[in-house]
Amino acid sequence: MQQTWQDLEMAQPRVVPFLIASLKKDRLSHAYLFNGPAGSGKSAMAIYMAKRFLCRQATGVDPCQVCKDCMRIDHGNHPDLHKMTVDKQTIKKEQVTALQKEFSYRGMESQKKVYIIHDVDKMTASAINSLLKFLEEPTQGTLAILLTENREAVLSTLLSRTQQINFLAPSHENMVAQWMKAGVEERHAHFLAALTGNTALIKEVTDGDWSFQARGVVLQLMKEVYLKRDHAFLTLSDKWLPLLKERFQQQLGLEMIFLWLKDFLYMKIGKEKGLVYVDQLQVFAQIARSTSTQQISRGVEHVMEAKRHLNANVPIQLVMERLLFKIQEG
Ligand SMILES: [Zn+2]
Repeated sequence: MQQTWQDLEMAQPRVVPFLIASLKKDRLSHAYLFNGPAGSGKSAMAIYMAKRFLCRQATGVDPCQVCKDCMRIDHGNHPDLHKMTVDKQTIKKEQVTALQKEFSYRGMESQKKVYIIHDVDKMTASAINSLLKFLEEPTQGTLAILLTENREAVLSTLLSRTQQINFLAPSHENMVAQWMKAGVEERHAHFLAALTGNTALIKEVTDGDWSFQARGVVLQLMKEVYLKRDHAFLTLSDKWLPLLKERFQQQLGLEMIFLWLKDFLYMKIGKEKGLVYVDQLQVFAQIARSTSTQQISRGVEHVMEAKRHLNANVPIQLVMERLLFKIQEG
């Protein structure tokens, strides 16, 4: 799926015209800081900028998308595009030094070089010093794009040497559009957009229809928690735990339960618009007879607590068993 400025503009309607204007005036900065939440498209924007910068057949503001440079960027193996990500929580000096060495040679292909550094707020002090030196003496034909989700944690010396660009969190409509572009049907796209709030997860979630299976398990589990108490723990060990192995899957799983309870609560108080599990009305109605509004809201609180426990590295089985008990207790 090749990006274009138009795709990127859907998510960031203010950033793209600004960058295009700089390109048209041939006044790109030598260093940018992209600041914004996860899923706001910083990384995709940085790659597209790199492509336009390194493409030797570009005539307008877009890269040609077909030359050797463009293809290599698509395949993630362009020799003059360097990406750096956080290694065990911090970016170390050795990584920057290696990059500098690389930059002191001429660009192997085009004499131009681009480097993209993720999570620049997590760099160690010595790594920042090396980078600063580099930013103070920019060489012709280099473009640096630093990314962060937390501008407040970026050193001011770094901020002052870069052109800062703020990315907004994507809107629900935009998220739905992106899911649909990834091949997800609309009904499901709404569910996923409400669920993750983060398009960076698109690939991981759509691979192997995982989210469809997880949705099915959540529906079974929640129905059983209220109506067939003993079955719920069996479903937990037989279906939930084997399917939700990765941390991000477990977090999504809890989020799905949260949305289920939210729907249930909305239905209970007669607010049936904007439900996520639109096909569950009958089940909700069945459970609603024996469950009070207070019990459901306490269930929501228990899910919040479970999320905190998961983030504090409590084993998932313990987190889930405790959650099911708590919801059943009311
Ligand atoms: Zn090209």
